[in-house]
Amino acid sequence: MAIALRKQGISDLIILERAAELGGTWRDNAYPGCACDVESVLYSLSFAPNPDWSRAFSPQPEIRAYLERVAAEYGIVPLIRFGEDVHGAVWDDTAKRWTVESTSGVWQCDAIVLANGQLSDPVVPEMAGLASFAGPVFHTAQWNHAVPLEGKRVAVIGTGASAIQAIPAIQPKVGQLVVLQRSPAWVMPRWDHAVPAWRRRLHQRFPITQKVLRLAQYLRHETLFLPFRHAAVRKIAERLISLHRTNQVRDPELRSALTPRYAIGCKRLLLSDDYYPAMTQSNVSLVTSAIARVVPDGIVTADGQTHAVDVIVLATGFRVTDWLLAPVIRGQGGQTLAEAWQGSPKAYMGTTIAGFPNLFTLMGPNTGLGHSSVLMMAEAQITHVVQVLAESGKRGARAAEPTAEAQARYVRWMDASLATTVWNQGGCQSWYLDRTGRNSALWPFGVGRFRRTVERVRPEDYRFSA
Ligand code: NAP
Repeated sequence: MAIALRKQGISDLIILERAAELGGTWRDNAYPGCACDVESVLYSLSFAPNPDWSRAFSPQPEIRAYLERVAAEYGIVPLIRFGEDVHGAVWDDTAKRWTVESTSGVWQCDAIVLANGQLSDPVVPEMAGLASFAGPVFHTAQWNHAVPLEGKRVAVIGTGASAIQAIPAIQPKVGQLVVLQRSPAWVMPRWDHAVPAWRRRLHQRFPITQKVLRLAQYLRHETLFLPFRHAAVRKIAERLISLHRTNQVRDPELRSALTPRYAIGCKRLLLSDDYYPAMTQSNVSLVTSAIARVVPDGIVTADGQTHAVDVIVLATGFRVTDWLLAPVIRGQGGQTLAEAWQGSPKAYMGTTIAGFPNLFTLMGPNTGLGHSSVLMMAEAQITHVVQVLAESGKRGARAAEPTAEAQARYVRWMDASLATTVWNQGGCQSWYLDRTGRNSALWPFGVGRFRRTVERVRPEDYRFSA
């Protein structure tokens, strides 16, 4: 966003970052095995290709280094004010300005872009007795690397995207691994591999080759999306993907316990080559009985068994649909975003919100994906933001917000398009659904359609005011 704004000649900008370093999710999530489950060539910024990715799915340290390098190359680092936690923002409709309050001060600005992510605050589940546990307890997003796991008895709670990456990475070194599963996930092969040196040289010398690869990956991911919308394709996908489990888990009892009872894609479809093999190892036990309570030396499950462990890893996800800043951002008439949303975030094209002039959200409501790289979504939104600001400038306007009608029409389209998808009808409870039961997380179509929709601003859907 900052790079795009500067390209437009907007240089009076700052970035407020609550942490001490940049990198967001790729700074915080440093658990063993952490990688992106979208190929690195696709999970890169379109204007900053990286010919040096070491693997098809490069590990977290490489992604973090990539982000740091891009920020440094484009001179973005000096714009970042680290250690600035945003406490609130208030719109002044007379001055047409936002006042933002953060850790060290108050900032006046014409526009704000919220790029604070949906998966940033870890969930620590309420479990009776957790505080009484004698050993270390940590969340995957706050991995405690000072705790040696060699030979230890370790419990992992959860079997989502983070857990299935961490489990195979720690299984060989721990003494005993107890995996506490509430709902099994759909897992398909990742086909990860090292990128040979010759191919890296090829991408360096002929960047077009990486562009072609990126296009091929983009198109393949667009087809991955079909099972989520069409039940007939879904049935075929379920059969094919079940083969992965059948091939890798020979024990019928374990295989049955690892078999999801909801439609594929309802919860995030996971990719792994080594999760199932890790689960079949003799030092791993899968526990499907619910957690009753935690005691000083282990976890007691509903079936009365005590699982004695030395360390507990919480792979229990994030506070997704809460929208951390919603209660402290006040738009027209002093209304907060939380009051406007009433538990269900809504935005025009996922990016702008009626009643909140000059406020933009990246990865806002209904922009998430279950099948491809969210960076492409964010880049489309960035184009939208830049266009709205340019249109304002052209009209001599000081503020722009979507009209309530345009936003309502857009949200109706989202709801109607999501109604028949697996995310809404797949028979599972996922973080895609907010507390009102509405799917405010996902975009219902392919990435191409989002770009075609969002990258062309319709001025008639906006109210510009001087
Ligand atoms: P998650 O997908 O929300 O999974 C949390 C897991 O913890 C689920 O298995 C959940 O069970 C379980 N759980 C939660 N509370 C529990 C409790 N009280 N008792 C027992 N089990 C409990 O979280 P995540 O794995 O951290 O992933 C979150 C998101 O981060 C992903 O969907 C993805 O978007 C992103 N992510 C991406 C990557 C990547 O490679 N791109 C990697 C990691 C994460 P239920 O399913 O029954 O609720």
